[in-house]
Amino acid sequence: MRRAIYPGSFDPVTLGHLDIIKRAAAIFDELIVCVSVNSAKSSGLFSPEERVELIRQVTEDLPNVKVDCSRELVADYARRSRSRVLVKGLRAVSDYESEIQMAMINAKLYPKLDTVFLYTRPKYAYLSSTVVKELARYGADLSDFVPRQIIERVRSKVAQSGQDYL
Ligand code: ADP
Repeated sequence: MRRAIYPGSFDPVTLGHLDIIKRAAAIFDELIVCVSVNSAKSSGLFSPEERVELIRQVTEDLPNVKVDCSRELVADYARRSRSRVLVKGLRAVSDYESEIQMAMINAKLYPKLDTVFLYTRPKYAYLSSTVVKELARYGADLSDFVPRQIIERVRSKVAQSGQDYL
């Protein structure tokens, strides 16, 4: 079985992430979307468990997609879950440099692991979770940016959190 992992912060999941999830799920037999808790980043807007819940909500119609959360290195998580492929999305040349470096580090840590890059759809090229949080803070319409099922959750969480997540 070809199993792949799509790791990221997903704080929160956006339409850009969801597009990569759908395309990767069509290529692999099973896709694990893994919320990776990165010690170098701030604690974020949503807790890792809430991010998992939001991704589950927007992928419930994709039977070969599983959602998980990990506090370990992605390479260790991949080894443990017997997967040899990581999926990453590329938006711009600026993503490329850091993603290639990360791919090489992961292959060094777990030589059987390879990273596959999917290019972003041009309509999502500007989209990131940071942009979503910024727009939500100003009360902008989020319907072009996050799946409609989670718009209200994002809105109310941003309103509750003030600027703590920045
Ligand atoms: P961000 O906070 O910048 O959205 P994440 O860590 O949540 O970043 O992203 C996880 C993965 O999804 C990364 O490989 C990232 O390049 C990719 N990704 C994020 N947004 C998009 C998008 N709009 N289109 C394609 N890939 C994306």
